[in-house]
Amino acid sequence: MSEREVVLSGIAASPGIALGRVMVVTRHDIDIPLRHLDAGEIEAEKKRLVEAMGRARDQLMETRDKVATDMGESYARIFDAHVMILEDKGSLAQVMEKIDGGYNAEFAFNAVFSKHERVLWEKGDTYIKDRAGDIRDVRRRVLSNLLGTRPARGDLSRIEEEVIVIAHDLSPADTAQMRRGKIMGFATDIGGRTSHTAIMARSLEIPAVVGLNDATTRVADGDFVILDGNRGRLIVAPSEETKKKYAEEHERYRTFALGLLRYKDLPATTIDGHTVTLSANIELHDEVDSVLEHGAQGIGLYRTEFIYIGREGLPTEEEQFLIYKDVASRLAPDPVIIRTMDLGGDKFMSAFESPKEINPYLGWRGIRFCLARKDIFKTQLRAILRATPFGDVKVMYPMISDLDEVLQANEVLEEAKRELKREGHEFDDGCKVGIMMETPAAVMIARELAPHVSFFSIGSNDLIQYALAADRGNEKVAYLYQPLHPGVLRLIDKTIRVGKESGIWVGLCGEMSSDVVCAFVLVGLGIDELSTSPYVVPEIKEKVRSIYFSEAEKVARHVLTLRTASEVEQAVLEKMEKDLPELLL
Ligand code: PEP
Ligand code: MG
Repeated sequence: MSEREVVLSGIAASPGIALGRVMVVTRHDIDIPLRHLDAGEIEAEKKRLVEAMGRARDQLMETRDKVATDMGESYARIFDAHVMILEDKGSLAQVMEKIDGGYNAEFAFNAVFSKHERVLWEKGDTYIKDRAGDIRDVRRRVLSNLLGTRPARGDLSRIEEEVIVIAHDLSPADTAQMRRGKIMGFATDIGGRTSHTAIMARSLEIPAVVGLNDATTRVADGDFVILDGNRGRLIVAPSEETKKKYAEEHERYRTFALGLLRYKDLPATTIDGHTVTLSANIELHDEVDSVLEHGAQGIGLYRTEFIYIGREGLPTEEEQFLIYKDVASRLAPDPVIIRTMDLGGDKFMSAFESPKEINPYLGWRGIRFCLARKDIFKTQLRAILRATPFGDVKVMYPMISDLDEVLQANEVLEEAKRELKREGHEFDDGCKVGIMMETPAAVMIARELAPHVSFFSIGSNDLIQYALAADRGNEKVAYLYQPLHPGVLRLIDKTIRVGKESGIWVGLCGEMSSDVVCAFVLVGLGIDELSTSPYVVPEIKEKVRSIYFSEAEKVARHVLTLRTASEVEQAVLEKMEKDLPELLL
């Protein structure tokens, strides 16, 4: 390894910075013995397989219980998916058939399961690849039981040194074994922001970078690296100057983050008295603790897709009702905005055979799917409505691009209300409905949409990708994915202005609200609410509390007249450096 500093760029999966030595966790696949069986050996071989699978099931249930206790049910469900793979009768029959054909259990089991894995992997999208990863984990577990070896990758929970783990890929199960204090962070060659692994890392607050392509071949055990989970970078053999810079940033951030919690119960009010609502985004209902700990004023976006994915079958109305009721009552009297399922794009349900699409982000996604499958949509709306008596619950529809979609969705909502009334269920008839503003077309017809909803929430993650025609998950066009592009800012400005003229509030729940420079501009543009990841809430609150709204307004008006994202960024940074240097700390 050269001593020259090398910066590898990937996807920022979980924020934070870690500096330390590397442990490369390689995963050599298991050597599979091949033996031809005599007819008399076949039954004993089948018994050996059934026992190994039984042991795998016990091991999985044990891990499941541990994860459920430590981290909550949503995470534990990942292991239910593993058990389901293990219990799949069709696959078992195929393995038994091979043993009947005279192959040993290891060979037969590996042949069937690695084929399933390969078929899913070749389908290519992130979510399906995650499912292939689940099959691989189960396959390895059963094989190591058959062979009497430890799983290839070893047990991450037993790593006693403080290291940064680098792996080709990690499963959610691996990540769940990591505990703060031992593994300081991890980086992987493959993976996306929406993989279970990334979600798990964020929940455990372990800094992580995924999608680095070839990190495992560019570092060796013991190398010193800096893992920058904020910017999605792995810096190998950093120079003394870089180390110093990051060590300072790390230390400053730690002190700063602790200090920020003192703002927990204060409002996000600027020095000159302008208040913005600061709420939090969640993906799993267990994250409510974090929302409360960080002093968010409610949930601005509850991404309910994760109730549907990573499981067999659809969630029932009752199951969903219990989840929504729990979230609503724990947050009460603060609001909870439950976004109806935004499946499609990069999130697919295993229960539902989604067609393979060439352009999934432009395809059968969000409200389009819901209106095509009103049965599934109405079940969710009924569950949300039934949760309304337990707190301040609002409904939000994703991916709106046409007025008719809002009218149709509202009609399904009304139908759900009529049914619930007939059945004698309690619910709030006046439950507020809002829409995500995340397509440029929706922004352009905001005036026509506004009379039918109570609020707009700008989905900047998608609005940027649709405005600039730059896939949010494709690193090759990442240079075009510019939150401060004047085209994006003008769309946001238009949405806010129409909201004000129409008497409805406008929030923003994309990643832009977590960025200090963007948040400054958004406050200046007159946004009513910012919704960010829970752990970012204190930081943004502190920033809002240290600015003058009148100044932010002036800067925002000015940047709307600029020509490029870099001109905008420069203008905002100049203002901050001059008048608000503490904002940039
Ligand atoms: C967005 O698009 O900005 C948003 C918040 O929704 P998601 O990231 O779930 O698409
Ligand atoms: Mg979106």
